[in-house]
Amino acid sequence: EYADIPLVIRGLRKEYADGFVAVSRVDFEVHRGQVVGLLGPNGAGKTTTLRVLMGLTQPTAGEIHVFGHRLVPGSPVLSRIGALVEGPGFLPHLTGIANLRSYWRATGRPLADAHFDEAIEIAGLGDSIHRRIKTYSHGMRQRLAIAQAMLGLPELLVLDEPTDGLDPPQIAEMRRVLRRYATGGRAVLVSSHLLAEVEQSCTHAVVVNKGVIVAAGPVEEIVGESPSVQFDVSDP
Ligand code: ATP
Repeated sequence: EYADIPLVIRGLRKEYADGFVAVSRVDFEVHRGQVVGLLGPNGAGKTTTLRVLMGLTQPTAGEIHVFGHRLVPGSPVLSRIGALVEGPGFLPHLTGIANLRSYWRATGRPLADAHFDEAIEIAGLGDSIHRRIKTYSHGMRQRLAIAQAMLGLPELLVLDEPTDGLDPPQIAEMRRVLRRYATGGRAVLVSSHLLAEVEQSCTHAVVVNKGVIVAAGPVEEIVGESPSVQFDVSDP
């Protein structure tokens, strides 16, 4: 069951120690080839949902299946998920490629050179990968962070607000990166609080508000038919 589906979430609930329910009922799926946007205003529960997926926090209830394997602490299937963690600590005096290599060595996992090259290629870093990071723009740093999440070419890529702080050309580049990544049967789950961004970057959208899913489906349907969605997720 679900063996070929990158992600199936059923009845996810997360109540924090102080009793606050950040996610009260979340169900959705991410299939191969899809770029799914988890869309909602600040505080909707997006980060909490993604942190559960990355194994960083335990759900209070519900089940997560990654390629048919139940996700539990220490699941080997976590290695099939690539994640962008907040503010990865790059070493500014080293080149982009040196940073990626040192990160990967620390994971202790084997990696083919071809995978390395493909991740860098998809991230659109080009020759700047051989420059020191201190010369990078914010957008390039962000793409390096994404390249890091893509090393090993995980079949499911999970990114929390990857376009935060980027300017429009950088956002357009990020959009191409995500689309490229999802081709060839991989899948991407990305959070955002901007409807326009999800509309342009994603094939599907899951709209979450106050810990509950209020709409889900192909992005054309979500954007076209739901004025309430637009109202709910518009920037304050
Ligand atoms: P943002 O875009 O601001 O990150 P979000 O949709 O990702 O929003 P979450 O970060 O998941 O939302 O937070 C959902 C709610 O859970 C927020 O109201 C937040 O204050 C609360 N919350 C997050 N972490 C904790 C915690 N450790 N303990 C208690 N409440 C928390």
